[in-house]
Amino acid sequence: MSPTLTITTSLLAGIAVGVPFVLWLRTRSARAKEATAWKERLESDLQQARNERDRLLDALSDAFLLVDAETDIRFVNAAARELFEGRQIVGRPVREAFLDGRLADAVLQSLETGEPVRSRVVLPQQASPRGDHETRGVNAWIIDAARLPDTPADHPLTRVVIRDVTSEHQLEQIRKDFVANASHELRTPLAIINGYLENLLDEGMLDDREMTRRFLTVMRKHSDRISRIVEDMLVISRLESGEAAALKLEPFRFRACIHDILERLESMIRQQTAEVTVTMPDDTLKLNADRFYWTQVLFNLVENALKQNPHKGLRIEIGCIGLPEGGIRIWIADNGVGIPSADLPHIFRRFYRVEKHHSQQEIKGTGLGLSIVKRAVEAHGGSIGVTSTPGQDTRFTIDLPASVRAVE
Ligand code: ADP
Repeated sequence: MSPTLTITTSLLAGIAVGVPFVLWLRTRSARAKEATAWKERLESDLQQARNERDRLLDALSDAFLLVDAETDIRFVNAAARELFEGRQIVGRPVREAFLDGRLADAVLQSLETGEPVRSRVVLPQQASPRGDHETRGVNAWIIDAARLPDTPADHPLTRVVIRDVTSEHQLEQIRKDFVANASHELRTPLAIINGYLENLLDEGMLDDREMTRRFLTVMRKHSDRISRIVEDMLVISRLESGEAAALKLEPFRFRACIHDILERLESMIRQQTAEVTVTMPDDTLKLNADRFYWTQVLFNLVENALKQNPHKGLRIEIGCIGLPEGGIRIWIADNGVGIPSADLPHIFRRFYRVEKHHSQQEIKGTGLGLSIVKRAVEAHGGSIGVTSTPGQDTRFTIDLPASVRAVE
């Protein structure tokens, strides 16, 4: 074979082997590139799906956690991160992460049995997941734990939802207290009336007309008290039932309202020789408000000043001015015994009475007057505050928004 032919043959053979090899190499690298791109796309899709899931779970107002079979926390949403304020809880066991065992119990029970568990836990605030040592009172939580249905049997995941129901719990508590207090307040005069009735029914008792009259007078005093408590409770429940939204607003002169209540309290004022002054630079100032409630607000505040200070030399000031930015300020001040500073924060609570006045005021007060005042003021969009320097100045100040001021 000639050398030229040999080279050509080798060249052809090389080409025959090399070309498919290069083509194979090219295909392989293209496939690898494709696979990498595909993998990247898949990872990015997965990441996107994860982000989407996290965004949705973060949008929940309830705390959401995922817990594995070893009781370790695997995932928490934004509300849970906020609940466990600044503490790293992912990767930690439930019992360690929850500050109080009572919160962890429901979760652990569900993990153990595989059954859904829903329980309500009421804890003192310092035992809450926040670990809040500053505040007093209680926190209430609903813990809802259930195994996720589509997780492998050997690696099950349990989802836990923690809902803060503290405000509902507090409302419920307030209602319960209200019923308990109301029953207690009503029971006392009822027991007294019953006692006198039994005495009256005793043989020969009714023949003693003088005694009978005395008994009946006491009974009437106590039945008046029952009526007053019931009246006050009805006003509070009307104000709280949302009917407040249907306040009967009408423009009226505040001076006329003051005049009405001073007329009603006239005999008390005269008896106590109390001095009442009205400070009202603009006599024509009008409120666009529910006159029934404002009469009650003024009456309760002025009557309180008189009731708490039956001695001579009491001075009461009723004041009302239009504020430059359009609102209205009303104040009722007296120079009487005042309210101890420890009682001031509680004074607007239903049935709250200052201890030292308790026996003295057993008949006169219901302990509901100031809560009616506060609710009526708030129903009109206003706020009320109180300051007291005993013997000098006890002052209730009401601020009302411009919307309550009637335009001429
Ligand atoms: P009450 O029906 O007992 O008057 P309130 O809710 O009106 O109930 O008032 C609650 C308590 O606040 C009163 O029992 C009294 O101890 C105290 N108080 C209210 N106003 C005054 C005041 N002007 N001076 C002193 N104590 C007051």
